[in-house]
Amino acid sequence: MHPIFIAASALLAAAEAAPPVTIVIHGGAGALERGRYSPAEEAAYKARLSEALDAGYAVLERGGPALDAVETAIALLEDSPLFNAGKGAVFTYEGKNELDASVMDGRTKAAGAVAGLRHVKNPIRLARAVMEKSPHVMMIGDGAEEFAKEQGIALVKSSYFRTEKRWRDYKDALKKAKEATAAEKESAVARDFKYGTVGAVALDAKGNLAAGTSTGGMTLKRYGRVGDAPIIGAGTFADNRSCAVSATGWGEYFIRLTIARDICAQVEYGGKSIEEATRDVIHARLQQSGGDGGVIVLAPDGSFVMDFNSAGMFRGVKQGGRKEVAIYRDAATP
Ligand code: ASP
Repeated sequence: MHPIFIAASALLAAAEAAPPVTIVIHGGAGALERGRYSPAEEAAYKARLSEALDAGYAVLERGGPALDAVETAIALLEDSPLFNAGKGAVFTYEGKNELDASVMDGRTKAAGAVAGLRHVKNPIRLARAVMEKSPHVMMIGDGAEEFAKEQGIALVKSSYFRTEKRWRDYKDALKKAKEATAAEKESAVARDFKYGTVGAVALDAKGNLAAGTSTGGMTLKRYGRVGDAPIIGAGTFADNRSCAVSATGWGEYFIRLTIARDICAQVEYGGKSIEEATRDVIHARLQQSGGDGGVIVLAPDGSFVMDFNSAGMFRGVKQGGRKEVAIYRDAATP
């Protein structure tokens, strides 16, 4: 065969084999029973998820890195008052907003994380700056905000994050907590008042994976509590050799079980598919431990999973001509 034909068919084969650029996002998991939101509210959530998918996918489509797609999609969700991240974050026991986020690059396994922020408009951007512009992986509180200033990352007044809806949820939760017995407290309060953490995983044209997560944490959190979202290996993990994961749910359980890393480890060491690994971690290990929540998982071949053991999870995927956005368990009639 003429060398040109050989080269052309090799190119064709490579193009056929190239995994499709993909973005998968979530907007939090929890007791999202059908009927919890009005049709108008559901439509608003879906519209914003859809917008975030389009923005992240556009980055990938023009050949941009998975990290940029993840940051773009998450920043859009942080800017929306609907989700518990950035604007619209839940309130701490003292009535403040404290934000956590992290990001990981599957190619280099570099990671950046921030926690306990009160003035950073887009925590995901600061997490990325920690990863790329500092020798550290994690920064918290005032120090992290000082670094944000140095890096020219947008800071806002703490009142920027407040929404009336979250304030009402906070007041309700506070009332319930004060009435609850000690035993009831952990389960009732933690279960009822946590929705809307956001996350994204992406696969770019070069075959690189990235993952990111951003949250306001859990309503009524106290004493500088930090959840799983900024903990690499718990709420976020990415490695080109296995998978990229972003989690949402009851953070204490996700930390103890190192959920994101466990899924990727089962793929890497155990030879499992991401479906099998996720099923084991979410429906066996997390379930048995008493925790709840979900994950989005993306593999280097473009296969993905969006799974949870709670009633629902805001979620979506865009890959080639396929685009889906869903809230409840039954994906056929989301
Ligand atoms: N995982 C978050 C946390 O524990 C909350 C959530 O995802 O809803 O801070």
